[in-house]
Amino acid sequence: MKNKTTINSIVIVGGGTSGWMTAAALSQHFKQQQVAITLVESSEIGTIGVGEATIPTLRRFYQKLGLTDTDVLKATCATCKLGIEFKDWATKGSSFIHPFGIFGQGTKETGFHHYWLRAAQAGKEVPLANYSLGVQLAAENKFAFPSSKPASQLEIYDWALHFDAALFAKLMKQVALANGVKLIDAKINAVDTNSVTGDIATLTLDSGNSLGGDLFIDCSGFRSLLLQQTLNTGYQDWSQWLLCDSALAVQTQVSDDPIARTISHAQQAGWIWKIPLQHRCGNGHVYASQFIDDDQAKSCLLKNIDGQVLHEPRSFKFTPGRANKAWNKNCIAVGLSSGFLEPLESTSIALVETAIEKICLSFPKNHFTSQIVTRFNDVTAAEYERVRDFIILHYKLTSRDDSPLWRYCQQMSIPESLSRKLEAYRHDGTMLTYPWEIFGKDSWLAIYHGFGVIPDKYASKAENMELSYLLKHMAYMQSRVAEQVAQAPSHKVFLNQTCQFSSQ
Ligand code: FAD
Repeated sequence: MKNKTTINSIVIVGGGTSGWMTAAALSQHFKQQQVAITLVESSEIGTIGVGEATIPTLRRFYQKLGLTDTDVLKATCATCKLGIEFKDWATKGSSFIHPFGIFGQGTKETGFHHYWLRAAQAGKEVPLANYSLGVQLAAENKFAFPSSKPASQLEIYDWALHFDAALFAKLMKQVALANGVKLIDAKINAVDTNSVTGDIATLTLDSGNSLGGDLFIDCSGFRSLLLQQTLNTGYQDWSQWLLCDSALAVQTQVSDDPIARTISHAQQAGWIWKIPLQHRCGNGHVYASQFIDDDQAKSCLLKNIDGQVLHEPRSFKFTPGRANKAWNKNCIAVGLSSGFLEPLESTSIALVETAIEKICLSFPKNHFTSQIVTRFNDVTAAEYERVRDFIILHYKLTSRDDSPLWRYCQQMSIPESLSRKLEAYRHDGTMLTYPWEIFGKDSWLAIYHGFGVIPDKYASKAENMELSYLLKHMAYMQSRVAEQVAQAPSHKVFLNQTCQFSSQ
């Protein structure tokens, strides 16, 4: 690659969630520069049509595009998500919530969980969840927008959306088209590369036309038309840690009040999701095909869902992992074309957002260098690996031994980066952090604690107050959380009053 490549035209291949998010964000980013952006999608091929649970970073993404929470909730038939409830994961019959928020009120010296542990070791054990407003709201199925000026940490929680993926892509498309993105609906039949540089040169469309560009963004989904099929970039397969490689998805009619959390219900060979929207409910079974066949997986899914089924379950196969390089030559892969772990913890769209953010940072002006490409790939690899570790943690910590999947997970060796974190926490509650983590300390705490991992000792700094004072303060924290939950409206009332679906 020559060391400075100038970009006057960008071609985005694919019009799923990742393609239209990329088009919306890049058309805004390059508004002041003369960069032409074209998106090619094929209505004949269609999109994957799943991907409806998000994490709070999505809200920051659309806010940068000038959209408000209410705009997006209304336009995408969305409900609010305060976190994920994990049922039967730690043991059969267990349940805990991973909230998008914090637990209790720490001090400058040390985190709340150390004080909690000190109190617990003194015989005053109160569930950690009682100190999390996010967990308590989710458990009670209540919702209100968080205060923009919280008076204390006890008022802090965050939230995300469960949305209709097709409606969200439509919204992104509206933004992109309004910013001047050119749309071509055609199937790409061939991709040609430059015989000297190996760069992507032209796409041949089924209309017979060809399309060239300086930079190509591959958002073609699992096909990975440019990055893998054309450039043969290679893939890291992580299925020794993430055994689920298949999924079935089905929509049902709404049968009860929408819950403000995703449900992940562990099964013998995987887990079942429930994602409520305003107009329907999304359900799916993610499973390890070496332990259950597709028919058994389907009957397990249908047995475990409520509401009238709206269509035959759709089937997906995937290899958990990531592309060796997300940016190869003049092609950057965003979305499923660059990798996929599995849907637990709703990280795929979040990785789309971070990829787009990195593309914008890589182009303060309309050119790039090989150093920028290397940096992009290093950061992408780190982000994927951090998410991978967080997901593996859920499987590794299970105490279930009632099926081959869970027995395997208990015994499996885990990446060094994860075992260092786990050991540090087990030893004295230290929360090791690495650069480029999407999930912060309170998320890790929620999972450790939800699976019953309790540190051997707490930080000595948690001795910095009298035990009686600490216990009084902890009682105050609990009551403050409970008061706020009592005042919040139900999630259903919140949706009815604030953001009923309205098509644009
Ligand atoms: P796609 O939606 O597949 O889009 C690919 C696009 O490329 C389409 O427009 C297609 O027409 C086009 N295309 C392909 N080939 C050609 C061609 N030859 N010519 C022209 N156009 C072409 N993510 C989350 O964040 N949360 C979740 O809850 C979640 N759940 C999931 C559950 C399952 C079972 C799976 C498999 C994934 C889930 N994901 C989830 C991931 C999420 O679905 C994707 O990250 C998201 O939809 C983005 O997909 P995409 O745009 O990369 O690909």
